Amino acid sequence: APSDYPDFLKWMPGDETVINFEFDPVVTEKVLSEAEIIFMLDFNDERRVEKMESLLRATTAFKIMIDHHLQPSGFCDITFSYSQASSTSELIYHFAKAIDASYRPTLAFAENIYAGIMTDTGSFRFSSTSSDVHRIIADLLDSGVVPNKIHEAIYDNFSANRTHFLGFCLKDKLTVLNEYNAAYIVVSKKELYQYKHQTGDTEGIVNYALGIKGIRMAVFMCEHENMIKISFRSKGEFSVKELAAEHFSGGGHQNAAGGKSLNSLDETVAKFLALLPFYKKELTK
Ligand code: 5GP
Repeated sequence: APSDYPDFLKWMPGDETVINFEFDPVVTEKVLSEAEIIFMLDFNDERRVEKMESLLRATTAFKIMIDHHLQPSGFCDITFSYSQASSTSELIYHFAKAIDASYRPTLAFAENIYAGIMTDTGSFRFSSTSSDVHRIIADLLDSGVVPNKIHEAIYDNFSANRTHFLGFCLKDKLTVLNEYNAAYIVVSKKELYQYKHQTGDTEGIVNYALGIKGIRMAVFMCEHENMIKISFRSKGEFSVKELAAEHFSGGGHQNAAGGKSLNSLDETVAKFLALLPFYKKELTK
């Protein structure tokens, strides 16, 4: 993994085998340089792994990408790219079945794939939740997955600080712009510190802004050590992927995208606000 990921994912079977480049760069380099095959999962552009990119470029391993984001960079020897798929987990399930049609998911495989599909479909509610997704889920349940156990491990596992932080964001940091059907939340480094921020604490907060009646686009801007990280979400036809790619060096999906800014937090907010009039027609039609 190129960087740390939230604690609420660390119950997942196999977690103890993950090598984190941020904490273990030397071991990561060794493993990557000795690998014969590298699977790149759930991202479609080598630049997304940031400082680990040079290690990926240096390896002679055969590279296979399995992903569902729009516009893959074509970096790998084989790219399985299906933007209509709900999740990379769905694609991995098909990949396993394509290798061996009689494959019966182990419980470990089933729990991980269930978690991946559940989180990427917003608990089976986004438009990507096809009948095929439900058939896969049925198969995973037949392999022993207990859905409420996975739900609780992921969604009922926040620290009290994170819950207070959520309250703070919703009460003090949320701005609703009815004329644009847009809402945004801005959080500074100092505020993260005040709420004892842990990796993953900001995840999902943008969805509360999108949950406001009439809102078509929600944005979460958060100041980190050396950049402003931005999450975009939208409903319907409005594509936040274009907005993120064109103005914030980012990308993603039509309704869920991300990007970054190297300007200050205030400048980033000002840039975002200045862009809104150009999207007003699309946001309000
Ligand atoms: P999130 O807002 O949850 O971090 O990301 C939403 C979606 O946008 C995810 O599919 C994620 O992979 C993608 N995304 C987030 N940040 C970036 C970025 O900086 N560049 C690109 N290309 N995609 C991003």
